[in-house]
Amino acid sequence: MTDYDTMWIGGRWVPGAVGTRPVLNPTDGSVIAEVAEGDAAQAASAIAAARLAQPAWAALAPVQRGAIMHRIAGLIRDHADTLARLVVREQGKPIAEARGEVAGAAEFFTYFAEFARRIQGEIFPSDAPGEQIWIQRVPVGVVVAIIPWNYPAALVSRKIAPSMIAGNCIVLKPHEETPLSSLYMARLFEEAGVPEGVVNIVTGAGDTIGAALTSDPGIDLITMTGSVPTGKRIMQTASSNLVPVSLELGGKAPFIVMDDADLELAVASAVTSRFMNCGQVCICNERMLIHAPIYDEFVARFVTATQALRMGDPMLDTTDLGPKISLAELEKVERITQEALAAGAEVLLRGGRPETPPVAGGNWLKPTILAGVRADMAIMRDEIFGPVVPLMKVSDFDEAVSIANDSRYGLSAYLFTNDFSRIMHAVHDVRFGEIYINRVGPEALQGYHTGYRNSGPGGDDGIHGLDAYLRKKTVYANYSGRSPVALMPW
Ligand code: NAD
Repeated sequence: MTDYDTMWIGGRWVPGAVGTRPVLNPTDGSVIAEVAEGDAAQAASAIAAARLAQPAWAALAPVQRGAIMHRIAGLIRDHADTLARLVVREQGKPIAEARGEVAGAAEFFTYFAEFARRIQGEIFPSDAPGEQIWIQRVPVGVVVAIIPWNYPAALVSRKIAPSMIAGNCIVLKPHEETPLSSLYMARLFEEAGVPEGVVNIVTGAGDTIGAALTSDPGIDLITMTGSVPTGKRIMQTASSNLVPVSLELGGKAPFIVMDDADLELAVASAVTSRFMNCGQVCICNERMLIHAPIYDEFVARFVTATQALRMGDPMLDTTDLGPKISLAELEKVERITQEALAAGAEVLLRGGRPETPPVAGGNWLKPTILAGVRADMAIMRDEIFGPVVPLMKVSDFDEAVSIANDSRYGLSAYLFTNDFSRIMHAVHDVRFGEIYINRVGPEALQGYHTGYRNSGPGGDDGIHGLDAYLRKKTVYANYSGRSPVALMPW
């Protein structure tokens, strides 16, 4: 299971028409694998394979589809250690986090397989006697899934598991920098007995193969996780075929800490939710709004706790902070930081690129904490997606909520308080798709991971996530033996 120079289309392993692309290890810059680079024609062939396979797949009883999914979950668990190490090698998150990601990748299949007996419809009384009306849920057909690089295993399951139980066939394109986990998982899908064409994994560039997949007239749904600019591009592309789109895009989560909060919990949570996965999570703590009475104490504790993070080889269990995914991403975060400093931000902790990196050749970036920022500064408004965070002092709860809401993003928000009134006001007034109260993420399988505003229309997980993979069909069944028109009471 070590060859990655082919992709999985219609149940066959095929080389990329364009050739191969190297995948780099962010820890040391070495080439881990050469991965198939597909072209637009191969994208079209994957969609054709999915289209061909879909009627037979949908005709299975959902429990039969679920049985295959349970086998996939078991295989992911059997291969968890190898897969976690692969996630570390291609993406750079610490191994403990990668194990959590892979456990989640298995859980998605178990969770959605359990919907086999739970996909429901609705029955309505008719206006005519002798007639029954019902609405049933049916598969959408062929799904295209596009995913980013920050969770290269979990996001594969997040898209494929609900698609499978719903009776759809799917073509998934991983990010070009992290395709290995999805190709490894495809081998497990094959071993689990996924029929040919039901799942297809194509690899290659976003602007060629991604664009070809999303503009193909033969698709019924696009589900994409990634950045706002790409999401906008995909929505424009999809409009030419009027294909529905579900977008999970960026975030700028406010992290509010009030004077009555459990400070120890708030500090630990602020550190975890900023620096996990080197700050590369859509629900990360991206801007901190700290109540004035506890500001000084909070800042002191937060800086100390951040300094205690151990940056190092992500393969080690002792590591808290691994490398950034790529040099380009690292440079982007450094540029955002420099711009904030030029705009007047004060340094509480300045990390930047270490003089002696933990491993030579990697994309290392130490934590930076900034204060003295204003709500209108770019660092408070644009997604950073790295180990850098601005802190702002707020005089009261209303100011915190007002600054939190003043964002073009609307994915997740955090609140630390034990005041019932503040909690309930936040529930009503904080305009974000998910609110974490006195806790960090990640989101739960049974929740609904959805963003407001530019964080994208649509969502994943739970019954509402599954619903996107199903469409509704209304049935009017006249069993009266007469014309229903004649039966109308008016
Ligand atoms: P990205 O938008 O650069 O890439 C995402 C995917 O889109 C990749 O597979 C890429 O190849 C593909 N792509 C690029 N151009 C395309 C095109 N024209 N047509 C079709 N596909 C195309 O995002 P990224 O840098 O990989 O990921 C980071 C972003 O993802 C961050 O903004 C982060 O917040 C977001 N994210 C969001 C969630 C969420 O659930 N909301 C989860 C994880 C990451």
